[in-house]
Amino acid sequence: MQLPPGFAEIVIAIGGLCVGSFLNVCIHRLPARDSIVFPASRCPGCLHLLAWSDNIPLASYIALRGRCRYCRVPISVRYPIIEAVTCAIFVLHWYVFGATPLLAVRLVFSPSISSTRSCRTSSRFPESWSVFCAASSCLRGR
Ligand SMILES: [Zn+2]
Repeated sequence: MQLPPGFAEIVIAIGGLCVGSFLNVCIHRLPARDSIVFPASRCPGCLHLLAWSDNIPLASYIALRGRCRYCRVPISVRYPIIEAVTCAIFVLHWYVFGATPLLAVRLVFSPSISSTRSCRTSSRFPESWSVFCAASSCLRGR
């Protein structure tokens, strides 16, 4: 069975956006030792429970113009950046390495984005270190 052209790339990109969204949860909650499962996502400004439509990676940020739907407090640009970078890493992996069994293993390294970002939040790592770690994790196992 032949897949339509670009179908695999779209699936990989959506997967990257979803993983990036999850990494944002980890970045926000793990340094505070909060659960990454419960409670559901809330606006840090007004604590209003976010609807599913407020949590669509990248699209919600653009649709809401970077502000909370309920209180209009600005949302950090970090969220769409992490989602976009993770998406780009996933698609880059797909183009560089193709559909090999190691693709899944390489993508496991994507949480280094989260860990290095968390390190930067809690210590003095420069932003460039986070980018270097994320990029180097892409190239591991080549
Ligand atoms: Zn709010």
